[in-house]
Amino acid sequence: MSDSFNHGLSQEEMVEIGRRSMSLNFRQAPVVLVRGEGMYAWDRAGARYLDFVGGIAVNGLGYSHPRLINAATRQLRQLWHVSNLYFNEPQILLSQALADRYGDGRVFLCNSGAEAVEAAIKLARRYAVKVLEQPKRTGFVSFKSSFHGRTLGALTATGQPKYHDGFKPLIGGFKYADFNDLDSVSKLVDDKTCAVIVEPIQAEGGLYTAEPGFLSAVKRLCEERGALLILDEVQVGCGRTGTFFAYEQENVKPDIVTLAKALGGGLPIGAIISNQTCAPGFQPGSHGSTFSGNAVACRTALAVLEVIEDDSLLDHVAATGAWFGKQLDGLKDRFDFVTGSRGRGFIQGLGFDKPWAPAALERCTKRGLLVNKLNTNTLRFLPPLIAQRSHIKAAVDILTDVLADLERDPPAEAG
Ligand code: PLP
Repeated sequence: MSDSFNHGLSQEEMVEIGRRSMSLNFRQAPVVLVRGEGMYAWDRAGARYLDFVGGIAVNGLGYSHPRLINAATRQLRQLWHVSNLYFNEPQILLSQALADRYGDGRVFLCNSGAEAVEAAIKLARRYAVKVLEQPKRTGFVSFKSSFHGRTLGALTATGQPKYHDGFKPLIGGFKYADFNDLDSVSKLVDDKTCAVIVEPIQAEGGLYTAEPGFLSAVKRLCEERGALLILDEVQVGCGRTGTFFAYEQENVKPDIVTLAKALGGGLPIGAIISNQTCAPGFQPGSHGSTFSGNAVACRTALAVLEVIEDDSLLDHVAATGAWFGKQLDGLKDRFDFVTGSRGRGFIQGLGFDKPWAPAALERCTKRGLLVNKLNTNTLRFLPPLIAQRSHIKAAVDILTDVLADLERDPPAEAG
């Protein structure tokens, strides 16, 4: 009997098969991860990695968290999928938990970040057209350098031309303002705008944080002009910045917020939470998804929320994240080519004035530390919310060795 767990292939053989058989979308390191526990992952060849990528902000509780395993396996034994012709328990309980966390909200569940953004775009437009009965109010304002996902609506919202290349025509009605520049937003929001969509921290676009007061000023502008405010918290939500929603630190409440990534602790799930005013934009039949509210994903997400609460992870991330930022920033005193750190909580970046991020990443991986790069000059760190100071110290020690190594032996491509 064949058993895909016992294939007998080496790591090199598997990488070779993957490169031959998989679609060409990704640029993977030649590493096949086979097991994870807490802050660590192991590859097929037995090497152990301290993981400061966390599945790109997904594995908020690290790998194999016992409470997530327990929740998911109990649910797997009980019921997997029922469709939205019926309710299922985890879907109801998760919706209630998220609606309460937001405060008198309504929740639409989906399967990814792009789907959450897509749902937010559709809700805003349908609310304006059908509930407000303003058929011309179909436009959106998003931001240059933003990232909202790869489906056509989310891609159009993404204010980075490189992602649009080859995919035009995009959907109509989008304009792009400058991040942290209220005047530029004010020039674009008019009586044809149904919503402004913005990330509290532009993550994929380079790790730029909304300046204090910017989001609340955008919200006021939206209110004055009759537009909704959508905050995309797919990457920074679910505790990553030290509060459950990043917007809680900005004295602003969006009309719609998107979540995904860390919500499922590693299982695919996304959500939008909207206020009761715009929620009626969706009615039976107007939007949906076969897998929306999948029982296993929802049960696991509920466990994620419970662990964040029970283990006081928000306070932990706020305090430890500030300390992490300081450790990273200190590296600029030791290395001339390091320009400093930026970020908040457990989303941190380290800038270089040389295009050495790819080489730094590769050398970190070889020394057993997984990090990510945002561009050739910036490394990004997204440790699970369970990371302790000891893990951060170990990561910064490896990084320090790598930076010293880069100084001694600069990468060839830098000349
Ligand atoms: N929105 C933001 C802010 C993101 O960072 C991402 C992904 O990085 C997305 C949306 C898209 O999420 P997904 O890749 O799950 O579709």
